[in-house]
Amino acid sequence: MLLNGLAWGILLLTLVQLAACAEDYYKILGVDKQATDRQLKSAYRQLSKKFHPDKNPGDDTAHDKFVEVSEAYEVLSDPETRAIYDRYGHDGLESHRNGHGGGGHHDPFDMFSRFFGGGGRSGRSPGKPRGHNKEFQIQISLHDFYNGADTQFEWDRQQICDHCDGSGSADGKVERCNVCGGQGMRVIKHQLAPGMFQQMTRPCDACGGRGETIKHKCPHCHGRRVVRKTTLVDVKIERGVARGERLVYENEADESPDWVAGDLVVHLAEKPPSMANNEKRQDGAFFRRKGDDLYWTEVLSLREAWMGDWTRNLTHLDDHVVRLGRRRGEVVQPGLVETLPGEGMPKWHEDGDSVYHKHEFGNLYVTYEVILPDQMEGSMQNEFWGLWEKWRAKKGVDLHKDSGRPNSPPVRDEL
Ligand SMILES: [Zn+2]
Ligand SMILES: [Zn+2]
Repeated sequence: MLLNGLAWGILLLTLVQLAACAEDYYKILGVDKQATDRQLKSAYRQLSKKFHPDKNPGDDTAHDKFVEVSEAYEVLSDPETRAIYDRYGHDGLESHRNGHGGGGHHDPFDMFSRFFGGGGRSGRSPGKPRGHNKEFQIQISLHDFYNGADTQFEWDRQQICDHCDGSGSADGKVERCNVCGGQGMRVIKHQLAPGMFQQMTRPCDACGGRGETIKHKCPHCHGRRVVRKTTLVDVKIERGVARGERLVYENEADESPDWVAGDLVVHLAEKPPSMANNEKRQDGAFFRRKGDDLYWTEVLSLREAWMGDWTRNLTHLDDHVVRLGRRRGEVVQPGLVETLPGEGMPKWHEDGDSVYHKHEFGNLYVTYEVILPDQMEGSMQNEFWGLWEKWRAKKGVDLHKDSGRPNSPPVRDEL
């Protein structure tokens, strides 16, 4: 009896621990509780691709993550289950599932293919031809490449009409074309000469080659089966992502019942530098980027380059200040390139935004240019000249003499 009680106790304890282990769905997707549908989708898109077993062969942790991520998305993407989860947590979901005849979880791979196309929607099958990819280029400022950004753009995407679910028919009825008998093709006999015929196969013009006709056209798409809709595309610029990077959104190009949608491809280009909308007066607008490194040119006066005792504060792309300077007596030669380690671009990493990841940075190369005064007041010029003469007499260096080049032009041989 006592042993029995103990065993129950242990079992209960284990159960409690198990329940505590089930991780928060929002945490799994890395979003907060107020996340919109689009944010959920974007998180699922990113994580499910990252942990997909095809990408991580033999990695059990990745496989478990993949399952977790689809489970979390499955619950949170459905307003009903999300509401239950928000109020009653995992236990609430459990009893909800039990109340609906068990059910349990869906196949995570099924969820993946539903999300990325290649099945799911009526009439989509793997044997179908693939539509064209759609390519866009968007301009990203260096500031956003450095700090990361979420941006969006719109385009008119061809989508399967959800009024008629891509049938084109108001009542869902599609009939066989009686001109071509559903073949979509007609054979036409063409008389070339008496007794001589040429047979030609042509697309049926009554049904447009589809073999089907619709009596009552869908009022929404006018029987075309597809509509153009303005579609918002979320673009996540990850810190330090390369200029010219292509972001691929699988199966998000134009849709049609006749093909599997191609990919939407977004190219990231760098926006030309501009000081507009630069209230913080960041100098970074004029950094030049090469891979993970940044380049900057700083101009010094003759006095500064020669005598030292100067400072410059560069406001970097995230507003932190980079201090340049020399103490008195420190000379900067024209054209000197100074390397500032860690002041370049953040190096892109797939765990970029994760709290467990710390960004590494490339270098900042500062090239110094020295500007000599080209106009001097007469008295100033005289004073400088006098000073030079005095010191030249004492410690003068003759660069010409030192060079070892001949003093007079060489004598040429007569031909
Ligand atoms: Zn026809
Ligand atoms: Zn329609």
